[in-house]
Amino acid sequence: MKNLKIINQETIKITNQKKIIQLLYREKQLTNLVISKTIKVSIPTVISNVRELIKQGYLDETEVGESSGGRKPVIVRFLPNCRYSFGVLITKEQVRIIMTDLNFKIIVQKIINVTDKIDDFNSVILEIKKEINNIISTNNIPLYKILGVGFSLPGTVNEEKLVLKNAPNLKLKNICFKNFERDFPVPIFIENEANASAYAEAFINFNYVKSSLVFISITEGIGTGIIITDNVYKGYNKRAGEFGHMTIIKNGKQCNCGKKGCWELYASKKALLDEYKKAYNIKNNSLKDFMEMSKTDSKAKEILDAYLEFLAEGIKNIILILDPGCIIIDGEISDYKSIIETELKEKIFKQNDFYDKKECNVSFSNLQGNASILGAAFLPMRKFFFLNERVI
Ligand SMILES: [Zn+2]
Repeated sequence: MKNLKIINQETIKITNQKKIIQLLYREKQLTNLVISKTIKVSIPTVISNVRELIKQGYLDETEVGESSGGRKPVIVRFLPNCRYSFGVLITKEQVRIIMTDLNFKIIVQKIINVTDKIDDFNSVILEIKKEINNIISTNNIPLYKILGVGFSLPGTVNEEKLVLKNAPNLKLKNICFKNFERDFPVPIFIENEANASAYAEAFINFNYVKSSLVFISITEGIGTGIIITDNVYKGYNKRAGEFGHMTIIKNGKQCNCGKKGCWELYASKKALLDEYKKAYNIKNNSLKDFMEMSKTDSKAKEILDAYLEFLAEGIKNIILILDPGCIIIDGEISDYKSIIETELKEKIFKQNDFYDKKECNVSFSNLQGNASILGAAFLPMRKFFFLNERVI
């Protein structure tokens, strides 16, 4: 019984400390009194936990402001550089490595060219390890300050078993990252790239309206990540959210996945550019040129309108299925927000019996193409910030 009591006290302490860290992370700085009122824990308990967190280097405190005769108020602050995290984004052409502080400020970035080398995945991993070790030693960071290395991967991932099940673009199958664990001096984590991006959008902007969101990455295909109450929704077989392959046209165009009429064949960037090339009989593959043209040319305008119709159709289905508080669109297309936003929203929120624009915030990513790699860097931070780490 005594042991159980000790365990319970320890759990309560950890819970309180995580609550304090989460709160200060969001609010940056607060007094002990405000912390106590917000997390509903007595002031002496807050003070003793804050003292311990200061000792561990997560927080500091400082006297500020004018006192009215008595002691000056003490402000407790979160220190974003108390820990660091690595994010690694692997594509067919290159590996991007970043080290960030806990505010997702990119402190170091390295790019390794892996064109034609990705087949030899073991040596790619060894090169990543070498770069990470270099960054750690050059910046003189003690290992205990590094939470881990998160990998964002273009494929189906079992994050618990650390297995990349299938990444068609990289031509990789069943890669077990457990085999690489001993190569790295800190823990490693893996996640699918769209899920990693969804984490980044939900957590970095730290807006709890976004704790229920769907991230839609529009590139050559369409990748989606679903966040439900701060967790990625993965489904029973860990492949939920393949919205790019939902049928939008029965017996439509043939998709690589074996099905016909998949959404990404009509609403990806490639789909739009294919229509552009076909209509003008050209080889130009530039979204920028097309978007410029659509401002004045009526044929290009028509192509864009038909494209947005398809994009909206899929988003409408997602809203009906998941009822998310927020949908975030990413990919090169989001650079043209000023051209497409109004029309896209009109199409999505056309009069219907189920929802209106006040109930689901459709917006564009503001992470400037960094969502996926920042999401990778977030993976090792999850244990640090969240009380119950779980994937549903
Ligand atoms: Zn498909």
